[in-house]
Amino acid sequence: MIKLRDIQKSFGDLKVLKGIDLEIHEKEIVSIVGPSGSGKTTLLQIMGTLDKPDQGSIEIKGKKIDGLKDKELAIFRNQEIGFIFQFHQLLPEFTAVENIMMPALIGGLSKSKAQDRAMELLDLLGLKERAEHKPNELSGGEKQRVAVARALINDPAVVLADEPSGSLDTQNKEELHQLFFDLRDQLGQTFVIVTHDEKLAQLTDRTIHLIDGQLNDK
Ligand code: ADP
Repeated sequence: MIKLRDIQKSFGDLKVLKGIDLEIHEKEIVSIVGPSGSGKTTLLQIMGTLDKPDQGSIEIKGKKIDGLKDKELAIFRNQEIGFIFQFHQLLPEFTAVENIMMPALIGGLSKSKAQDRAMELLDLLGLKERAEHKPNELSGGEKQRVAVARALINDPAVVLADEPSGSLDTQNKEELHQLFFDLRDQLGQTFVIVTHDEKLAQLTDRTIHLIDGQLNDK
């Protein structure tokens, strides 16, 4: 599903990624762990086509990303990659259902179809009653589940999550982790999760250690 070959990335003199080779399979849930500053977010951003490597190639769902024009890349990203961040990043002036619909509307789906799909996802995530609530009327766990629904609205092949449970308490953390596995089983997404949470890392199909710009998947 994701193939990275010899990915290298520097910021000025700082060499952050020193030749990353990685293959992630369809429906796999992979965690990426490593010390702070080891390049986990940079690697996830590159996988998500939000940042470009200095060198190396990226293939997602059989499509070579290098060389795509910015507009093609933006369309591909919106369709095939869902993002979940540590802080939900919902737009405060919009309701839960409107936030979830946003990537579908950007992708050109009609408003009524986007709304139907968003309501299905809210139902699946146990949040149907919260559809018309704005983010400040939702609990932390609910906001993060709305962010998960937003990541899934276009039925992406891949979901990339950067410390998704980092701002949640223990119970919400465990519920969110369980949700990733349920979603993989029900919807078939591939998940890549950057996390400091050892409990979550232990649950995933595979843990990849990023140390000093290199992978070590022992
Ligand atoms: P991690 O997610 O493992 O904590 P990051 O990928 O966020 O690590 O960062 C790796 C290193 O690259 C850090 O030293 C960070 O300061 C640096 N870095 C990340 N993004 C940038 C940037 N846009 N410009 C300059 N330095 C950056």
